[in-house]
Amino acid sequence: MIIVMQLEATQAQIDAVAGAIREVGLDPLILPGEDRVAIGIPAAIKPDQRERLDSMLGSLEGINKISQTSRPYKLASIEFKRQRTQFEIKGVGFGPNQFTMIAGPCSIESYDQLDEAAHLVQSAGGKVLRGGAFKPRTSPYAFQGLQEEGLKLMKQVGDARGLVTITEVMSGDLVPMVAEYTDILQIGARSMQNFPLLVAAGKSGKPVFLKRGPGATVDEFLLAAEYVLNQGGSQVILCERGILPLDRSYTRNTFDLAVVPVLKEYSHLPVFADPSHGTGVAKYVPPMAKAALVAGADGLMVEVHPNPREALSDGSQALTPDQFTTLMADLGKLAQAVGVKLA
Ligand code: PEP
Ligand code: MN
Repeated sequence: MIIVMQLEATQAQIDAVAGAIREVGLDPLILPGEDRVAIGIPAAIKPDQRERLDSMLGSLEGINKISQTSRPYKLASIEFKRQRTQFEIKGVGFGPNQFTMIAGPCSIESYDQLDEAAHLVQSAGGKVLRGGAFKPRTSPYAFQGLQEEGLKLMKQVGDARGLVTITEVMSGDLVPMVAEYTDILQIGARSMQNFPLLVAAGKSGKPVFLKRGPGATVDEFLLAAEYVLNQGGSQVILCERGILPLDRSYTRNTFDLAVVPVLKEYSHLPVFADPSHGTGVAKYVPPMAKAALVAGADGLMVEVHPNPREALSDGSQALTPDQFTTLMADLGKLAQAVGVKLA
């Protein structure tokens, strides 16, 4: 249940609603919005509690609307926060009316490789550089990333070029270290339900880029975001990156683009799409990237490598410099057509 107060509701009226909720044995969650306060009840409400509460609320002043919601997430829900989340990181916008590109290699491999990729991203108009230093690999024998050394390279390149940076953090205890070197914490698909990590990321106050788990439902995805929001984090970006495929012989995952408008209907958080992991095949990335823009995504994450054939991870899905430059030009035209700003 969510109780949205009137614009001019007084503190005493808000306190009275919270008091009524406590009286039936439930905990109110007070959410001050931009122009009005909403009060939610995160726990399940038993029928007898609901009956008593309904009658108490019916006699209280200052309430604009009461909505019964069966959705298990609250802070991530658009019912709680009607204004879409929008924020800037070092002058780069995330949220509605803009289409923000995040691009770079799957893994940070060397200074030259990362700087070359950064140059490419920047020359094509991109402002956010990605690159993994801690890599979640299926096999323990595969390249695991340069780890702290990689984080240092990311900081060095990002600072020198004035790019916003994003990298993955795989465990809660690494959050302070990763947060020191980069602007945005990426929580990977495999970690979407690593609850201590979500909590630590939320506590850090850093923007969090949360990828959908390959087998996660929409509720599970939004509840993972809820873990971050619940710790005080407010800058959370959702990212669809493909779910478990029916058939792996053509694509690595099934890129669930339909979830983009779904997430935008039920949540106020910015929604991004990652067609690189979504398809796993470089030549399928541009068409799906363009489709994501048209589907209403607020931005993309794509992998690009100066020389994909030499990449230490995910080379087959990395765009070549030429493919990336062409894609950026095409996205620019589409962005103009749908009335968003490509950043
Ligand atoms: C990545 O971004 O390189 C990555 C590992 O992504 P995901 O968590 O979506 O697999
Ligand atoms: Mn990758």
